[in-house]
Amino acid sequence: MGQAKKELAEQEANEYRQRAAMKGKGYSFCQHCDLPFKAIDGELLCEDCWDEVTKG
Ligand SMILES: [Zn+2]
Repeated sequence: MGQAKKELAEQEANEYRQRAAMKGKGYSFCQHCDLPFKAIDGELLCEDCWDEVTKG
């Protein structure tokens, strides 16, 4: 169980590092689907989710 916990922590650390690297490259993470996308003007949603939201 301790091992699984450790692996989970490592996985989370990896994910965090990946996100940090993506952010360093100018990517944001969609608040809706959690996928990385290029935010041009500080958008919180990716294009797909934005389309869905604005379509109503
Ligand atoms: Zn999205």
